[in-house]
Amino acid sequence: MMQSQTAVQPTPVQKESSAKAFYAGRGVSETLTVSHAKGIFFWDTNGKRYLDGSSGAVAANIGHGNERVRDAMVDQANRISYVIRTAFTCDATDELCNLISKLAGPGFDQTFLVSGGSEAVESALKLARQYAYVNGERDRWKVLARLPGYHGATLGAAAVTGDPDRDAMFGPIMQIMPKVPSPLSYRLPEGFTVETYADHCADALEKQILAEGPETVLAFIMEPVGGIATGALVAPDSYYTKVREICDRHGVLLIFDEVMCGAGRTGSFLAAHHWPDSLPDLVVCAKGLSAGYTPLGAMIAPDRIVDKVVESGGFLHGHTYSGNPLSSAIGVAVLRELLDNDLMANATRMGHLLRERLNALKDKSRTIGDVRGLGLLNAVEIVQDKATKTMFPGSKQASYRISDIARNLGLHLYSRRAASGKFGDWFMAAPPLTITEQELDLLMELTTETFRIFESENS
Ligand code: PLP
Repeated sequence: MMQSQTAVQPTPVQKESSAKAFYAGRGVSETLTVSHAKGIFFWDTNGKRYLDGSSGAVAANIGHGNERVRDAMVDQANRISYVIRTAFTCDATDELCNLISKLAGPGFDQTFLVSGGSEAVESALKLARQYAYVNGERDRWKVLARLPGYHGATLGAAAVTGDPDRDAMFGPIMQIMPKVPSPLSYRLPEGFTVETYADHCADALEKQILAEGPETVLAFIMEPVGGIATGALVAPDSYYTKVREICDRHGVLLIFDEVMCGAGRTGSFLAAHHWPDSLPDLVVCAKGLSAGYTPLGAMIAPDRIVDKVVESGGFLHGHTYSGNPLSSAIGVAVLRELLDNDLMANATRMGHLLRERLNALKDKSRTIGDVRGLGLLNAVEIVQDKATKTMFPGSKQASYRISDIARNLGLHLYSRRAASGKFGDWFMAAPPLTITEQELDLLMELTTETFRIFESENS
């Protein structure tokens, strides 16, 4: 029986004039204090409304203030919020794991829950390593990855992240893994088409495996649809086929990092489902899985890998909050919203419309160089000169200036000058999957005005 609650008077908190919380990220010039949110909008404490044009950091897939999620949170909190996962489970955790595996489809039988994207990536790297080890392939430990690419902030995930700045800063305290080029589609090296460059990049993967010694290569990790590091990069279909064949040829596990592109964002539950003949061995998801309502991530793996590791004595990895009941219940409610409201179909429909409208804006604009993406995971690349694709100089901080202008107008845009501008400047056009056509009109109105101001500053 639940204990009755005695009313407790809150201790008055003195509001300090300057916040002591530390979050010195790069981006917009000032951190604003938000007050509340509903649907695709949130408000600051001055009552100003913002359209969430990038779903925060491409996370708020089902929009803000969802009542079903709130009710699920309260209901679960009334039962139990935490147990130690290695000894106990609960209905919500079992239901979430079953639902994820069902949505991921055949070959993705078991789900390992964690608290976010980086932890999910770490889990996949370690599961792959332990699987190879218990299979007697103890020399396999190298995880190849792409440059540019992003897989997270923790050291294992950073080691496979393709970003020379982070390597220079954190390299001495981690083991940087070998990189192969990402099949960029806008800034192509001389003499290549999108297709021939993608082929070249797939060939570069095989060459790198051979150079490392295939018997030492454990896995290849990639974002099937790019996130912030490549600005929603999508490769030609042939690239996915080739990568799968190369990995098979050399006994290398293929890991898809779907932290940003998974959980319905591209119009299918896994982005991998767009290339059903080239499915990976392991997948990691986060962000949209809990749509920002709680820290949650997942690694999804086949029985053949998990069972082997479990038989060997258990997975040598875990976190205090893995599979905690509260996050699990929230994850279930988020996925039910995704399914019951057909949000993946809406992502496909609205994604087409958004790219069409952004491309129309690009045709009129002097500084939009490229629009790309899949479903509602899209990016807009900003250039100083469209004919030559020249980037703005670093001193302009073009993508962050765009975010600042948009924010003044009441629009949130998540932007990045990738790897100090080595690969370009862009922002993510990735609103919640709940967006309606009318809301999309407003998003475009605000984006158009943002570029009008930005271009008048740079005329
Ligand atoms: N992988 C990808 C593709 C991401 O986009 C991110 C975060 O943006 C991560 C991993 C890391 O996830 P988290 O920030 O939840 O640790």
